[in-house]
Amino acid sequence: MTTVLLLLTLLIIPLSGCNFRAVEPAPLTPTTVRVTIDHGSPVPTLNVPASRVLQIIPTPSMQIDIPPTNTPDGACPGSGAYSRSEHTVAAEIDYAAKIVQVQHQVQWTNHSGDAVDTFVLNLEPNRFSGVVTMNGVTVEALTGEEIIQATAFELTGRRLTVELSAPLAIGCALQAELSYRLAVPPVGTGLNALNGYFGYTVRQMNLGHWLATVAVNRGGEWISHDAVQIGEQIVAESADWDVTLIVNNAPSDLTIAAPGQLDRPENAVWHYQLERSREFAASMSDEFNVTLQDAPDGTMVELYSFTEASTGSTSGAVDGAGHALLVAVNSLGMYSDLFGAFPYPRFVVVEGDFADGMEFSGLVFVGRDWFRGYTGEPGGYLTIITVHEVAHQWWYARVGNDQAITPWLDEALATYSEYIFFEEFYPDLRDWWWDFRVNSFVRSQSDYIAASVDSPVYTFTTVRQYINAVYLRGARMLHALREDLGTDPFFDWLRRYSEAGANRVVTPDIFWSLLTPEQLEQTRETRAEYLTDSDY
Ligand SMILES: [Zn+2]
Repeated sequence: MTTVLLLLTLLIIPLSGCNFRAVEPAPLTPTTVRVTIDHGSPVPTLNVPASRVLQIIPTPSMQIDIPPTNTPDGACPGSGAYSRSEHTVAAEIDYAAKIVQVQHQVQWTNHSGDAVDTFVLNLEPNRFSGVVTMNGVTVEALTGEEIIQATAFELTGRRLTVELSAPLAIGCALQAELSYRLAVPPVGTGLNALNGYFGYTVRQMNLGHWLATVAVNRGGEWISHDAVQIGEQIVAESADWDVTLIVNNAPSDLTIAAPGQLDRPENAVWHYQLERSREFAASMSDEFNVTLQDAPDGTMVELYSFTEASTGSTSGAVDGAGHALLVAVNSLGMYSDLFGAFPYPRFVVVEGDFADGMEFSGLVFVGRDWFRGYTGEPGGYLTIITVHEVAHQWWYARVGNDQAITPWLDEALATYSEYIFFEEFYPDLRDWWWDFRVNSFVRSQSDYIAASVDSPVYTFTTVRQYINAVYLRGARMLHALREDLGTDPFFDWLRRYSEAGANRVVTPDIFWSLLTPEQLEQTRETRAEYLTDSDY
């Protein structure tokens, strides 16, 4: 029995951190909803019985607190200063029915460099059919003396496009109010088996990538990529989140794992505030065991795991939870030293009741199979995946990138960060890491001839190709760059990149621009070997 389980675990292991995907890509079947908004009706609704129209306490009210402009060119007063988007969410969760009613206010300032006549958000759950019901979208803004409202919205796949009655000028802010209903899907059936960070099992409900985020606008184009089953395609700005979870029909001992500052105004209400975050994720269960440990930088690391993580691995009674917590503590401390301070007082690690790992700002999932497969030895996937997801707190959450077009910026750096963790804490396992993690998959030129490290996710037809090219050869490339530059200049470069990209969405030119002309020359051959776009 043990042998079979172990073999099964090994068979599903060979992919990677936040991108374990066991099947070939399949087209997603997004729903499309287009609604023209009639401002004569107070609440636009769509296929929603009146009884389901959201009632949230306190009721969010649309208030315009944006001063009109007095400047002759029509620009708004805020045009010179950058301000992050603010999300205020009230989510009423029927835990038993797995239904979430979301009332979501967004305040966004137009820093796109041009006037915009649409406002675009990404609503990830609508990648799946039958999950999202839009109840309504309203927008109010002022440009000069003109009041701007939403005239129509369209939800296609993850992309929610809101048409504005007039262009919103540079520096002007708008306030949007979205009302939507989510039918959280079960983990483990169909496509949703691959996306357990948004789904439920008998013992867990995971809300990852469940709330709308504002699409990044670059050069007048809103970035909202097509969904595919390879990698992530998230491009999210850094924003401030104020999220209230009102949980009904739940076990009395329900525990919620979520990042940020928490207060509990009522028994069934969890109120979180999380700043400079690309999203807000939460996981809930009445079976969590919670263990805590301070990281060297003072961050409180919290591990939410199930009983089998501590006592029931396939190899016997070894404490995978304790190991994962230790690894998270040590890697968080190490990366804070190397790449800049972790921004929050708390960091949350959740055992996901699904076969995957996934990163969010201030919270990561480490899949149950990595706990079940833990043998008591540090050389294995529980260490690798935990460290990998922690590293994404810098290479994704802090320094944002386009995960569809330049996935190497987060995945290659997160994978190489695994190696430097082993270097520091388990130096005897350095060669093991290269063999186990990289060389056993990327053996020869033919394994990667089709794709460079800097390939978009859309290049690949299998997950294996994607992991090999972007994660594993990406790690090789970074190691070669370190050898080109020397260890100290290499880590100095990564630190400066982490500072330059903090709370931004960056492109590779920023990464390379931080090298001196001499360093660019030192790295020329390596860049030419691994990259398609290697001239900087
Ligand atoms: Zn990853």
